[in-house]
Amino acid sequence: MPLYDYRCLNCQQKIAVRLSYAEYDTARPKCPLCGSDRLQRAIGRVRIAKSDDTRMESLADPSSFGDLDENDPRSMAKFMRKMGSEMGEDLGPEFGEVVDRLESGEAPESIEQSMPDMGGSPAGGPDGDL
Ligand SMILES: [Zn+2]
Repeated sequence: MPLYDYRCLNCQQKIAVRLSYAEYDTARPKCPLCGSDRLQRAIGRVRIAKSDDTRMESLADPSSFGDLDENDPRSMAKFMRKMGSEMGEDLGPEFGEVVDRLESGEAPESIEQSMPDMGGSPAGGPDGDL
C-alpha cells in the first residue's frame, strides 16, 4: 500500500499514513503524535522526485493523467494541477508555488532545494507560523 504524506494542522508535524486507495478516499486518519484529525495532505518530495510505481496507485483513473511525463516539468505541473482540482482541497501556497515553477520549466530537484519546508525540517521554528 502506498504511503501518503500529511501535515498535522494541530501540531504542525509531517507524518506518513499508509492507506490503500479505497481507504484514502474515505479514511479520516488521525495524527499519531497528538491524535488530531486535522490532517492536510501534503505533496511530498518522494512523489515529486522519484519514479515510483506506488505513486500511481493514488490516481483514480490513470487514463485521465495519461499524458504525464515525469521527466517534463511542465507535464508534471499540468498533472499536479489536475490532481489538486480532483482532490478539491486547498493544497496551500507551497503546492501552488511548486506547480508554477514546474510550469516555468524548473527542475523538481532545484525546487525542492529552494523550499526547505519540503525537506522535512521546519523553516520558521515552532513560533514562526504567524
Ligand atoms: Zn498532530
